[in-house]
Amino acid sequence: MRIAVIGGGAAGFFAAIAAAETPGTNVVLYEATAHLLAKVKVSGGGRCNVTHACYEPKILVTHYPRGSRELLGPFHRFGPTETFAWFNRRGVELKTEDDGRVFPITDSSETISSCLQDAARRAGVSVKVRCGVNSMLQSSAGFDLNLTTGELEHFDKVLIATGGNKSSAGIQIAQQLGHTIIPAVPSLFTFHIDSVLLKGLEGLAVVKAEAKIKDAKYITQGPILITHWGLSGPAILKLSSLAARELHEIDYKFTLLVNWASSLSLIQIEAALNAQKITHPKRQITTGNPFSLPARLWERLCLHANIGDKVQWAGVSKALLQNLTQLIGSSSFSVTGKSMNKEEFVTCGGVKLSEIDFSTMQSRICPNLYFAGEVLDIDGVTGGFNFQAAWTTGWHGGRAMSESQLT
Ligand SMILES: Cc1cc2nc3c(=O)[nH]c(=O)nc-3n(C[C@H](O)[C@H](O)[C@H](O)COP(=O)(O)OP(=O)(O)OC[C@H]3O[C@@H](n4cnc5c(N)ncnc54)[C@H](O)[C@@H]3O)c2cc1C
Repeated sequence: MRIAVIGGGAAGFFAAIAAAETPGTNVVLYEATAHLLAKVKVSGGGRCNVTHACYEPKILVTHYPRGSRELLGPFHRFGPTETFAWFNRRGVELKTEDDGRVFPITDSSETISSCLQDAARRAGVSVKVRCGVNSMLQSSAGFDLNLTTGELEHFDKVLIATGGNKSSAGIQIAQQLGHTIIPAVPSLFTFHIDSVLLKGLEGLAVVKAEAKIKDAKYITQGPILITHWGLSGPAILKLSSLAARELHEIDYKFTLLVNWASSLSLIQIEAALNAQKITHPKRQITTGNPFSLPARLWERLCLHANIGDKVQWAGVSKALLQNLTQLIGSSSFSVTGKSMNKEEFVTCGGVKLSEIDFSTMQSRICPNLYFAGEVLDIDGVTGGFNFQAAWTTGWHGGRAMSESQLT
């Protein structure tokens, strides 16, 4: 059986290796550029955040704003546990950091890239670089691929793994063969905010905060980082991912509410401030805070609540404590735009998921055609979830192509 995999990224490599490891298959992987696994190499700041230490599929899928329902079944067969085992079997040791992100112990994405290329070589995958697929014709006995080199090649089965660039030929081929394409919009970005409250506080991080889009259902918790241009950090990136489509529609202009005391309610925050006033009446308010906030941020919040830096707790009126409560629990910011996250950026949109059988990754519309990775309308939040989706869908697609009979 002749199998073509289009795209030399994470999903394409996993699919090609899985397919080629089954005897009786002849697998060719086409990469349009001169660079294999380019995103793997730059990923995770050059360290490659391979997956996330989240081993319960039901919890794992909650990290995918798009694709959670469809990925549940595939994660039961190939999830982070299997990713660990897959790389370990091929000599790569992985380590889990405190926040659950998984990296190679070498802290180098080259380790992952080399492992995938070695595994492909050993499995007998024929890898063609600088050889893109321009278009594809379905024939009664498979597919004819028009290559950028001018050649025409025939295959029994084809898997498209052309990634998140939604203007790629992979998307056009999918569309020509009858698939619906969900329009692409960015996911995982940081927010532009010009606010006097944040000016000069660049670099400060609040480890447990909550971010919310005003008048919308989206709310996230986690670290928030103050940057030169606004706010970033896992809670912000997750919010951008959850609300990717809605924020695109309103041109990234909206009101963001931040609770610097994580999930404490305004009533709980006020109670904590009052308790402080009773226990430390003589202490200067700016010298300590009950929420473990960075000192400079705490001072700034006090100043914005009209509480001077020399004021003692006993001297703070009820009205000023309420001002402070409001600022801690619900600081309001006008977001004016976005920046892509430098560490990891992805797009949402792609081939419509209901047109794919997720037990095999085969198209429900075009038999013997398969899809894997970011070309699908799947995307995860930051933390290794996007690669996990690529490994899982690639592995399933590769296995299914090589194990199934021609239909
Ligand atoms: C800077 C950055 C850092 C990231 N870091 C992380 C991270 O640490 N952890 C994580 O989980 N995710 C990370 N991501 C996201 C992750 O890289 C992607 O989700 C993942 O690479 C998707 O894999 P893929 O194989 O579907 O697509 P891609 O990796 O985009 O691969 C698709 C390949 O197909 C090729 N191609 C396209 N069209 C054709 C054609 N017509 N013919 C032949 N070849 C074609 C492309 O050139 C490309 O090589 C990061 C993304 C970026 C941009």
